[in-house]
Amino acid sequence: MYIITISSELAPVAKVGGLADMVYGLSRELSIRGNAVEVILPKYDCIRHDHVWGLTVCYDNLWVPWWNGAIHCTVYSGHVHGQLAFFIEPHSNDHFFDRGTFYGFYDEAMRYAFFTRAALEFMFKSGKRPDIIHSHDWQTGLTATLLYEIYAPLGMNTSRVIHTIHNFKHQGHAGVEVLYATGLNRPEHYCSLERMGDDHNPFAINFTKAAIVYSNFVTTVSRKHAWEAMYTDQGYGMGHTLHRYGSKFGGVLNGLDYDMWNPEWDPHIPHHYSVRDTDNLPGKRDNKTALRHRLMLEQCDRPIVSYVGRLDTQKGVHLIRHALFTAIHNHAQFILLGTSPEYGINDNFWHLKHVLNDNPHCHLEIGFNEELSRLIYAGSDMFIVPSLFEPCGLTQMIAMRYGTVPIVRAVGGLADTIFDWDFSQQPMEMRNGFSFESADYAGIESAMFRAFGLYHNDEYWKKIRTNCMNMDYSWNHPGRDYLNIYEFIRHR
Ligand code: ADP
Repeated sequence: MYIITISSELAPVAKVGGLADMVYGLSRELSIRGNAVEVILPKYDCIRHDHVWGLTVCYDNLWVPWWNGAIHCTVYSGHVHGQLAFFIEPHSNDHFFDRGTFYGFYDEAMRYAFFTRAALEFMFKSGKRPDIIHSHDWQTGLTATLLYEIYAPLGMNTSRVIHTIHNFKHQGHAGVEVLYATGLNRPEHYCSLERMGDDHNPFAINFTKAAIVYSNFVTTVSRKHAWEAMYTDQGYGMGHTLHRYGSKFGGVLNGLDYDMWNPEWDPHIPHHYSVRDTDNLPGKRDNKTALRHRLMLEQCDRPIVSYVGRLDTQKGVHLIRHALFTAIHNHAQFILLGTSPEYGINDNFWHLKHVLNDNPHCHLEIGFNEELSRLIYAGSDMFIVPSLFEPCGLTQMIAMRYGTVPIVRAVGGLADTIFDWDFSQQPMEMRNGFSFESADYAGIESAMFRAFGLYHNDEYWKKIRTNCMNMDYSWNHPGRDYLNIYEFIRHR
């Protein structure tokens, strides 16, 4: 099959969050399975050029219709760790992608509406006729609308569109001017509630709604989150539209790149280990010693509980903070690695760091540090993810890969990947962590206390750790699921 992905991120050249990892991981899996996969991205001035091989101009004379004229673009091609990618560089006074960073500008809707139109124009002019076009998140939410309303009548009518929503909180709202700029025009037609008119703002169009209405299939990144988006407030107002189009909506769990995250050869951890080692995992024990040494924690018989991730309200910051105190007051150690774009949250954790500076049983590292994160995954015993909502979540999967037992709130992808040791209906060998329902102190404490109890039972702790390492959350299953969806829509 010939698949083109249109995305605002691709790891590691243009990475802000999980979207970048997903686009790279899925593309790689689909290529391994024998499909032709190409990714189209904006040519941001801040892409990591050191991760692109053979970047060359491949289409120099692309004129993309915009308002009543057109913007001249140059298209580059290159390989990102084996994945063929195209980068679109517009030349105009808007400087859409020459801003030193990826997101956060006043004209965000215009930037990505332009990029989506440019990606389709590039396909049209260069004769690319993929079987499947896969778009992601609100930034490329207009893909299906532009394809069916503008390019299909010009002859590009064999491609089918699938759209993946990674986060319902960000839906992409804009005024009708986007319709004029992209050439869709006819606001009286498109702004209606049956099409892309926002359900809560009569003057706005909604990119995510456009994607749901016009795409051939829509996914989000776990089955549980698909249900939550339809039936709870986690759909951020999109529930009604999802119900209307429920027959073409579903959840597919993201995978984890099992080559990139592997304790057998991770270059950032001092001791390598695998589930095939003796079941007391001497390599993991030595990493724990190294981790304590590096962060100046006391070497003792306590379990280490850790957190790695953004310090965002979504992640349950009040519960992370409470977990820290629960750990140090209950004969455990606690490590946190995280950062927040919100000054209030960052300051709060800096304050906590100063207060606890001399405590030999906890360490807070405020910042982004991939290398340290790997040592934390490898050297910890337990890993908390107490999110308020979590469409998929990668950190619990990484923790398990490194034999670290997750303690999670049972929402979204966390509920789909973590099966409680005590209460799950799954067979014993599938039980791989501890989960709790209510986002309050009692909830997280109950799960942590159960984990601490099991930790002191050597036989069962080895068992749960082995269960974690034996789980398969690679791209193997989701890759197959996406191919099934592609096949399904391709023949309709
Ligand atoms: P989200 O996409 O909502 O931020 P995910 O769990 O899907 O959360 O992915 C987070 C990824 O970012 C993981 O690979 C995690 O290790 C990494 N990460 C997050 N914060 C940090 C940090 N401060 N230092 C190092 N890695 C981090």
